[in-house]
Amino acid sequence: MFDVAIIGTGPAGLSAALTLKLHNKDIIWFGSNELSDKVGKSEKIANYPGVPMISGPDLNRHFREQAKEMGLEPVDKRVTNIADMGGTFMVLADNEMFEARTVLLATGIAAAKGMENEARLLGAGVSYCATCDGFLYKGKTAAVYCTDERMEHDIKYLEEICGKLYIYTSFGYTTDAENAEILRLPVRKLDGGMKCDSIELTDGTKIDVDGIFILRPAIAPSTVMPGLEMDGAHIIVNRSQETNFKGFYAAGDCTGRPYQIAKAVGEGNIAAHAILERLSEIEKENK
Ligand SMILES: Cc1cc2nc3c(=O)[nH]c(=O)nc-3n(C[C@H](O)[C@H](O)[C@H](O)COP(=O)(O)OP(=O)(O)OC[C@H]3O[C@@H](n4cnc5c(N)ncnc54)[C@H](O)[C@@H]3O)c2cc1C
Repeated sequence: MFDVAIIGTGPAGLSAALTLKLHNKDIIWFGSNELSDKVGKSEKIANYPGVPMISGPDLNRHFREQAKEMGLEPVDKRVTNIADMGGTFMVLADNEMFEARTVLLATGIAAAKGMENEARLLGAGVSYCATCDGFLYKGKTAAVYCTDERMEHDIKYLEEICGKLYIYTSFGYTTDAENAEILRLPVRKLDGGMKCDSIELTDGTKIDVDGIFILRPAIAPSTVMPGLEMDGAHIIVNRSQETNFKGFYAAGDCTGRPYQIAKAVGEGNIAAHAILERLSEIEKENK
């Protein structure tokens, strides 16, 4: 049982992790070891106080060094689902379950709005995790839609187990696998009643499949935590960064504009302090 599960290794997640670590809390911190893709892509950052003009990769390196110095190590797993157990939260990451008293979602802004029927068919022929569900498609026909080059190994794994694999990537993946077929157009829509049984490309081409793996760097927060109150793509939070679930917080780009490092760091800090208060409340309740 962890005190807090932090999901996201960007500036918001890091900021919260640093403060909670200083208070000796038991933290499980999910996300990429590289920390923030977005920060890494910034050419020059000129508006972060205390740090004169710096490149994104350099700032990310400082972030990594600071995390390491503080003994913070991200668990490089993708969180696909969180459940409120009434007092604690169960976090599913790459098919492994973790339990925490509080949760901070700091996953950045999910660029993709999702395919038609994606949320409805999730878990019914739609998977976000090849490692978790790949074995279900042994010898079967599947599709994989991947927009994160770091997940290339998952495509290779699916090539090994599926009978036939249709592949769409945004980064020009190539393969010699005889059972693989590269799709030139992205998938627009998923079809099926109780289970996904076909996909539709942007030109209307339909392909029969037994399932599809959607591998993106970010998943919509309301898919990760069903019932989370949203305002469009943004999670609704109060001044303590708490969502409509008690003990469940959100910070950074995922809560709204401006999409800025300073705002993400500030919100991560506010969330960390609110979590500290919530943890002492829980401690009192349990006495
Ligand atoms: C090109 C570019 C230039 C920019 N320039 C500036 C600038 O000059 N100044 C400025 O202030 N801001 C700038 N920004 C914006 C800034 O990068 C963001 O506002 C900031 O990174 C947001 O931090 P965050 O922690 O909310 O999210 P992010 O930095 O997006 O981090 C989110 C993290 O969550 C992880 N994650 C997501 N989903 C999951 C999951 N399901 N399981 C596990 N981990 C998950 C991601 O992998 C990532 O590590 C720029 C952004 C870009 C793209």
